[in-house]
Amino acid sequence: MKPIRQNEARKVTPDRITGQDRILDRRQKKHIRSDQGSVNSMDVEWVFFLDCECKGEAAGRCFECGAISCETCHGRCHACRKPICMQHSHFLETDDQEPIRLCGRCHDKISRKQTRAKIGRFFLSFLVQQEDGRDG
Ligand SMILES: [Zn+2]
Ligand SMILES: [Zn+2]
Ligand SMILES: [Zn+2]
Repeated sequence: MKPIRQNEARKVTPDRITGQDRILDRRQKKHIRSDQGSVNSMDVEWVFFLDCECKGEAAGRCFECGAISCETCHGRCHACRKPICMQHSHFLETDDQEPIRLCGRCHDKISRKQTRAKIGRFFLSFLVQQEDGRDG
């Protein structure tokens, strides 16, 4: 049966990647005429929880998995500025600063570079040690 009147209220979060809104919370009110002729109102409420399972305002949506996270869990990749959830964040330890948050792809790129640098240093120290040995 078609409702006589239907109101809907939505709470959405904008998604900058897809340009669409993701629904966080939806309330619907329907007025239905019953068989007896009376008008019944019906309330339906959908609640979409934050995927990080925290309480609080939604801060954004992860570009990798689409998860909605709160302000604390949600962040951006330091390199490409894409929004990421906690699960898809990789933290790169740095000497002087706080760990840098990176997305998977940027983390891969940077850690590969780092490994290469470490290997280079390793070979260098190996050569130095050998030369020392020869001298002694
Ligand atoms: Zn994610
Ligand atoms: Zn959270
Ligand atoms: Zn990135």
